[in-house]
Amino acid sequence: MNIRHHFDDATLMAYAAGTLPEGMALLVACHLHWCPACRDRVKHAEAVGGALLDSIEPKSMSANALDDILSRLDDEQPTVDVSPTQSVILPKDVPAPLHSYINTSLDNLPWKRLGYGVHHIDLNLGSKGTTRLLKIAPGVSVPHHTHSGNELTLILRGSYSDEIGRFSAGDVADLDGEIHHQPIVDTDQDCICLIATDSPLKFSGLMGRLVQPFIGL
Ligand SMILES: [Zn+2]
Repeated sequence: MNIRHHFDDATLMAYAAGTLPEGMALLVACHLHWCPACRDRVKHAEAVGGALLDSIEPKSMSANALDDILSRLDDEQPTVDVSPTQSVILPKDVPAPLHSYINTSLDNLPWKRLGYGVHHIDLNLGSKGTTRLLKIAPGVSVPHHTHSGNELTLILRGSYSDEIGRFSAGDVADLDGEIHHQPIVDTDQDCICLIATDSPLKFSGLMGRLVQPFIGL
């Protein structure tokens, strides 16, 4: 798997601190399943966070405490394990953390049709934002939109391009409200993504505003 797009540091720090909503944490875990580079970044973030917590003593934090902590990191081996442990054989486009939620292959899911070449599955992970799988037909252009919060996307199958670049299996798009984009799915196959948001999207074009009530994104 040739992964070219990764998470922001802020997203991985929030994951390491356990402060992401469930859907976003699931999505990060799925990318980590495939991405050794981001697994290393999370281990480092957790080691720094743990060492900082260990060293907090009221009124006794020395001026060079951070130096002490950072020098200790070289000796400590954080015990983070996000590698797969189960013995079932997974479809190659379903990372283990996601499989425990859907328990089947992407092709066997009960996809619901939204129209415009888009199907979806809502994972129903609580009230803070949405977590869903989207299956978008080859060549389809998603209406131009911006984000009022954060949106994480993990490509499971296929690929798309937008103003940022080309995204294919294993890649993540880590977007905040400043991004204004219009993804277009490549023409060779469906693009299936896991998408987690912490607030609704804002569509900007006329078509987008017409479509939004039907898609419910
Ligand atoms: Zn990565």
